[in-house]
Amino acid sequence: MNSPDSKSHQSAREIFEELEEYYDDHNVYYQTIGSVLDATELLGINHRLKLILSQPKNEIMVHFTAKMDDGSQKLFKGYRVQHNNVLGPYKGGIRFHHEVKLDEVKALALLMTMKCALARLPLGGAKGALKVNPRSLTKNELERVTRRFTAALGNNISPNYDIPAPDVGTNAQIMAWMADTYTNMSEASSKVIAKGVVTGKPIEFGGSEGREKATGQGLVFVLEELLPGMNLKIGDLSYSLIGFGNVGSWTARLLQKHGSKLKTVMDHTGAILNEDGIDAEDLTQYVKEHGGVKGYPKANPVSNDAFYSTKVDLFIPAALEQMIDFEHAKRMNCKVIVEGANAPTTPRAEQLLLEKGVEILPAILCNAGGVTVSYFEWKQNRQSETWEEEKVDRQLRMTMSKSAQRVLNMAREKNCSMRIASYAAAIEYLDKVYDMRGVFP
Ligand code: GLU
Repeated sequence: MNSPDSKSHQSAREIFEELEEYYDDHNVYYQTIGSVLDATELLGINHRLKLILSQPKNEIMVHFTAKMDDGSQKLFKGYRVQHNNVLGPYKGGIRFHHEVKLDEVKALALLMTMKCALARLPLGGAKGALKVNPRSLTKNELERVTRRFTAALGNNISPNYDIPAPDVGTNAQIMAWMADTYTNMSEASSKVIAKGVVTGKPIEFGGSEGREKATGQGLVFVLEELLPGMNLKIGDLSYSLIGFGNVGSWTARLLQKHGSKLKTVMDHTGAILNEDGIDAEDLTQYVKEHGGVKGYPKANPVSNDAFYSTKVDLFIPAALEQMIDFEHAKRMNCKVIVEGANAPTTPRAEQLLLEKGVEILPAILCNAGGVTVSYFEWKQNRQSETWEEEKVDRQLRMTMSKSAQRVLNMAREKNCSMRIASYAAAIEYLDKVYDMRGVFP
């Protein structure tokens, strides 16, 4: 399929010129909004919506101190970017990472708006981040920093207004500390629903069955829906994986049940390869104990170059942004890229890969399982209900299959890439809602 990327984001360039802001090709925020606005061109979307989407509604930055175990005080920087809430409360993860920047959080918040709109969830888009390496903190320090961050965000988050969730470097325990801090700060009459301020909590404390595996599970449901149309069988394929955190390891474990073969994995510690396949359950255990894939005894260490060039059917990035750039794209030898991570493919890499005939299944489709089950958790919290895992999975499958069909239909109708189609299917819906709501005042 053709990609309109070759127009090099003309629509976004014009919008940012009007806003008197410099359009930066290498910046992940501009790259992301660039592709989103390319999609508006296919639909003939009005100028007002382009302006609205081009910048987040709120960009919150907080600084706070927290006490370290040695008694010293350290200053931390946190972000919460609230991109859009026309469909419902702001929603999106909070990541803890030492290299995080405002523009990255802005890109991720925009993607959440698109993700929720594509899945037709009654939620808006947001993202948060704390500039810290969570591995450098003790458990007690991590708890104090998380609680101080929650307090610093104050009323910018709430179960009715903005609902964070786990992301890179955060997990159910961190969500429990956030929910507990927020509940303690709430008035007595709001305490019942206060824990709904975050999703992705431990099951015992208002979490949902099926939430931990949800992103991987959603990705597998998308593959089940789309692979037959690409002449690929889920039980008869090989794949590479970047990242072996929550998304990567769950994807691998679920794909293993279908009989797919994990050939090679790369994470922050190194890359490993076994042509006969790597046991995902066994590797999950190893990574829990050793902190990464490096040194895994049942595979061979390989260079990053060898990792990217390995011949596979699927290539699944499930770590950070921009991990597939132009140089990687030249080397890659796969049929389909399945984006478990947000914004893992740079526009130049994407263009080259599409020219090479590689299909790219975009992030806002493939990784929407997390936010979808977050929505189920939020609903359960509001109604004081507990759903069985079977119900969660059934509803998740339905949501993911419908989204996949929506993207496929749009790609066929407009003869565009799956990424542009996914944005177009999301924007079409947002446009309808803006149109119906009209302009205030
Ligand atoms: N952090 C996840 C994402 O990027 C989940 C967000 C959520 O559950 O709200 O989609």
